[in-house]
Amino acid sequence: MQRQILFRCPRTGTNVQHRFDDERPEGAGPADSYVPVRCPACMSLHFVNSTTGRLLNEPGAQPGSTPRSA
Ligand SMILES: [Zn+2]
Repeated sequence: MQRQILFRCPRTGTNVQHRFDDERPEGAGPADSYVPVRCPACMSLHFVNSTTGRLLNEPGAQPGSTPRSA
């Protein structure tokens, strides 16, 4: 089972694509599981939600401010 997520590095602002090589069946773990991902942009670890691709403590997650840069 492979899943790809896209997250934005909070340090460099670079969009980083990460692929999980996950052997667990779908729905085996908790829905909100943050996993450490080695960021190729800043070479440090970010905690990323394996389901939504959202970063832990993401600055843009506050209600009221939803900057959409699509
Ligand atoms: Zn980073």
